[in-house]
Amino acid sequence: MSIYGYFNCHDCRQMLWLGKALHDQRGVFGYHIGTSDEPPHWKRDLLNQVLWKFIAEHTSHRIDVRLEHEMTEEMFGYQDIGGDRDNDVTYENYLATGAGSNVNDKR
Ligand SMILES: [Zn+2]
Repeated sequence: MSIYGYFNCHDCRQMLWLGKALHDQRGVFGYHIGTSDEPPHWKRDLLNQVLWKFIAEHTSHRIDVRLEHEMTEEMFGYQDIGGDRDNDVTYENYLATGAGSNVNDKR
C-alpha cells in the first residue's frame, strides 16, 4: 500500500502533492510520482520549478511536509497545485502567476 506525502502552507492553505513516500529502515527518505520507471523528482523540470516557487512564495510561512495520515480533512481541502478540483491550479498556471498572487484568502 502506498502512503502519500503533501507539502503544505498552512497560512495560504495551499499544498503540493509529493506522491508516494519512499521508505527504508530509518523511515521516509523521499517521494516519487508514478511507476518505478518514471523519472525521480529531481529530473522533472516542471515539478522542480513548481517546488522552488512554492518554497520562495511561502518563505517564513507555516510550511511542512506530512504523510496522508498526518493530514486533516481541512488540509485536504487546501488548494492543490497540480490537482484537478475546481479550486486547484495546474502546474502551468501556478508558474504563470506572479509571487503573492495566490487565489486563496490569507487568514
Ligand atoms: Zn504561504
